[in-house]
Amino acid sequence: MTQKIVLASNNQGKLKEFYQMLAPLGLEVHSQSEFSVPDAPEPYFTFVENALMKARHAARLTGLPALADDSGICVNALGGAPGVYSARFAGEPKSDANNNRKLIHELRGYADKSAYYYCVLVFVRSEHDPQPVIADGKWVGQIVEEASGEGGFGYDPHFFLPEFGKTVAQLTAAEKNGISHRAQALSALVQKLG
Ligand code: IMP
Repeated sequence: MTQKIVLASNNQGKLKEFYQMLAPLGLEVHSQSEFSVPDAPEPYFTFVENALMKARHAARLTGLPALADDSGICVNALGGAPGVYSARFAGEPKSDANNNRKLIHELRGYADKSAYYYCVLVFVRSEHDPQPVIADGKWVGQIVEEASGEGGFGYDPHFFLPEFGKTVAQLTAAEKNGISHRAQALSALVQKLG
């Protein structure tokens, strides 16, 4: 028997990825937009709190088990910034180009250019589930001044992977989806739920 679950996101790319990975566990993933669930606020300082808030919100409004994700980039020399503020690092309206410009500017003068993409997934069986299932993934790289590559989104043209000699924007979508912070978190979640 399959169990319907709601994904607290309207991103079609994530929906497809999560759908494929969770179908073998008998979980059928539906976007929260199918249930007219509006986006939840994300008021917290940590990824896990924001993801939990989004999952609870979707579970409350649909009566279904819910899965939420939260992700961003953390730069070590900047004390983990932009972190949960990654999407709007340079303010409103959100812009990848402005975010990247600000990141490069703030990192000038630091020798340590190390950073990581982080993704956390939170699954709740119900709004008041006392034991959410939490899984995360971390993808380590270096911030480079010069942008390279056309793929991906966000900070990818400046996120360099020494082991590939490429930025994430120079990977194919399949390569990225196999090893990204989101892929790592999703496979950790599948292990925990399986
Ligand atoms: P969200 O959790 O998908 O909304 O991502 C939050 C923000 O983190 C995005 O708007 C990007 O700025 C950044 N981010 C998260 N994942 C990635 C990625 O795979 N590549 C580039 N930027 C990312």
